[in-house]
Parts: sequence; structure tokens; C-alpha cells
Amino acid sequence: LNRRLAEFGTTIFAEMSALALSTGAINLGQGFPDTDGPEEVREAAVRALRDGRGNQYPPGPGVPELRAAVTAHQQRRYGLSYDPDTEVLVTAGATEAIAAALLALLEPGDEVIAFEPYYDSYAACIAMAGGRRVPVTLRPHEGEGRFRLDLDELRDAVTDRTRLLLINTPHNPTGTVLTREELAAIAELAVERDLLVVTDEVYEHLVFDEAEHVPLASFPGMRERTVTISSSGKTFSFTGWKVGWVTASPELVTAVRSAKQYLTYVSAGPFQYAVAEALSLPESYFTDFRADLLAKRNLLAAGLEEAGFRVFRPSGTYFVTTDIRPLGETDGFAFCRGLPERAGVVAIPNAVFYDHREQGAPFVRFAFCKRTGVLEEAVRRLKGVC
Ligand code: PMP
Ligand code: GLN
Repeated sequence: LNRRLAEFGTTIFAEMSALALSTGAINLGQGFPDTDGPEEVREAAVRALRDGRGNQYPPGPGVPELRAAVTAHQQRRYGLSYDPDTEVLVTAGATEAIAAALLALLEPGDEVIAFEPYYDSYAACIAMAGGRRVPVTLRPHEGEGRFRLDLDELRDAVTDRTRLLLINTPHNPTGTVLTREELAAIAELAVERDLLVVTDEVYEHLVFDEAEHVPLASFPGMRERTVTISSSGKTFSFTGWKVGWVTASPELVTAVRSAKQYLTYVSAGPFQYAVAEALSLPESYFTDFRADLLAKRNLLAAGLEEAGFRVFRPSGTYFVTTDIRPLGETDGFAFCRGLPERAGVVAIPNAVFYDHREQGAPFVRFAFCKRTGVLEEAVRRLKGVC
């Protein structure tokens, strides 16, 4: 393994899911649903396979049906107009979109500012692209009970070497959804310092309570400098299909596509037709999905509180970050490594998402995209031993 990647090893998700399998523990670690997405969307995939749509190399930018569905979704939901022929690129999940965007847009030595804790592929992809990551730490805010961005710290992190802001909202793992005001400030900074922005919005439909997801591309001066990334994995509960997409200006899409064509060339065909149908589902699909997840968030958050954790109630995503210090614990790694034996539950130590590991040490993440009975059993187990 070369020096760029040596520090990364096996992803925490593979390690913890293997631990769940070997111990038989309930897996609230890796974020994947234990119920597949809508039947009619699965049927659409079967139809595409059977009818020979996408069984041979599909078009490089993605099949026209999916590109049209993506642009219709951006227009309908956010009033953002994109040209399906020049401003959309279908990717192998959001993961490839992130990799291709960074590989396409960074010169060696360029600085990339990303929130810490960050989704783990960000650090590895910045490294593969030869960039330098500059983390800005989201910290728990006592009054608000959420992890919050310090805008002054973000401004101070920008240097003459900064090329790009890598934003994620709703944010994995903290569940923070950036407010309109925070996003406006980020947009102003990007314009003022002439920065590119790559924004990972894969949890765009998973927002709760009063929180609202606002795409960064919708702020003044942002459309032309922003690469927006989303994916069918989270919104439609098909994490195994690996269908994601990018929307951006023609110049930025062409750049990202230049990298993508030598990573995977094209993305798997039949699922693209099915995701096109998924994006066109009636609004009730999205509201019902959100309501179901909200009930699960409430169940798990209340259960973890009763078990003695300090809970940061997420406004978005399907993750709850907790603080284990009220349990008399300080090391999330040790806690998560011991939890399957002790309680029959798997969780993720947030420290893996930090450069400043000590900042993340007491935080542990639980996923709630699981059946109600599974969450109830996990809570029962945790209350028994924590
Ligand atoms: N970004 C974030 C913040 C994520 O949580 C995930 C999924 N774990 C991804 C990207 C990757 O999405 P995909 O499965 O579509 O590659
Ligand atoms: N995004 C998911 C998570 O954060 C898992 C993705 C993965 O396994 N790479 O848990």
C-alpha cells in the first residue's frame, strides 16, 4: 500500500459489521436499512433487466431517463434548473461521485476544508487526489444540544492554498442539518474567496422536526461553483445498488466525468432505470419514509437516554451520536469494541471520523434505519448493561 493510503487501513464499517456477524450482535453500526426499498422500484429493476435495458454499457453520463428524473427532482423540490444533457452525471453511488470530484478538481497540495467528524471516504479521497485536508471541528453546543459549525473557525481555515470546501448536510455522523443562515455564510465565504464547493447531500430527504434541507447550490453565486452529490441508497433504501449522481455546471460535470470515465467508465445499467422511477414516486413516499424514520429516531434516542447516554437528537440522517461520559466511559473505541460481548449491540466510535481523535473520543454513533422490533431489542439490551 502506498504512503498516501497507508494510514487508512480497513474502513470502520467493514470492521464493525464483521464484528456484528461474528458475535451475532444487533448491528446499529454501519448505516444500511434492514428493510429494502419499495416493491414497485424493485419490480422496475427486474423489468429493465428482463427487457434488456442497461444490460450493455449504458451512456457515460447515465441513462437519459435517470438524468431527466434527477433534473425534474431538483426543479420540483428546490427550484434548481439543470440541463439533463450537460449538467448531470450518474455515478457508482455518492462514494464514486466524491472520489471523481476530488480527483478531477484538486491539484497536488491543494487544501480541502471539510467538517470534522467527516464521512471516512473524504479523507481517503483527498489523499488519493494528493490534496491536504484541513478539518474544521463541529462541536457540541450546550444550549442547542447539537453539534454546531463555528463560522469564524471556518473563515480562519481558508488560506491561499484552499481550493475547495467539502460540505455535508444533513451531516453524518452528528445528524446536524446546516441552517439557512449557516449555508448563506458558507456561500458568501466561497464567493468571497473564490472557492469550489463539493456538497454531499445524500441525506437530503432525511430531515426531521423543523429542520429543512436547503441545497448550497441555491444560494447566490453558488450554482456555478458547486458540485452537488446525492444518491439513491439513503432516500430509497437501496444501498446495494450504488446509484448516485452529480448536478453542476457543464464545466464542472465535464471535469468530474473525465475522472469517472477512468474509474468505472459507466455505472450499472438496469438499476438506473429503476432509480429514475423511484425519483418520480409521489410525494407521499417521501413523507411516509420520513415519518417512519422520525418514529425510529424518537424510539432510539429515548432508549439511549434511559440507558444513560447523553443523546444529541439528530435533525437529519439516520444516525444518533451519543456521549458515553455519563456512563463513566471516555474511550469510544474501547467501548465499541467491547459492546457486542457486553450488550449484543454494535455501534461506531466517532473518533474514526476525526483528525483530532481526542475531540471525538467520547462520542459513539448508533444507526436507527432498522425495524422497530430490532431497535426495541437493542434498547432493552443496552439498558440491561450500560
Ligand atoms: N456520503 C455520506 C455522508 C454517507 O453517509 C454515505 C453512505 N454511507 C455516502 C456518502 C455514500 O453513499 P453511496 O452508498 O451512495 O456511495
Ligand atoms: N454511509 C454508511 C455509514 O456511514 C456506510 C457506508 C459504508 O459502509 N461505506 O454508516
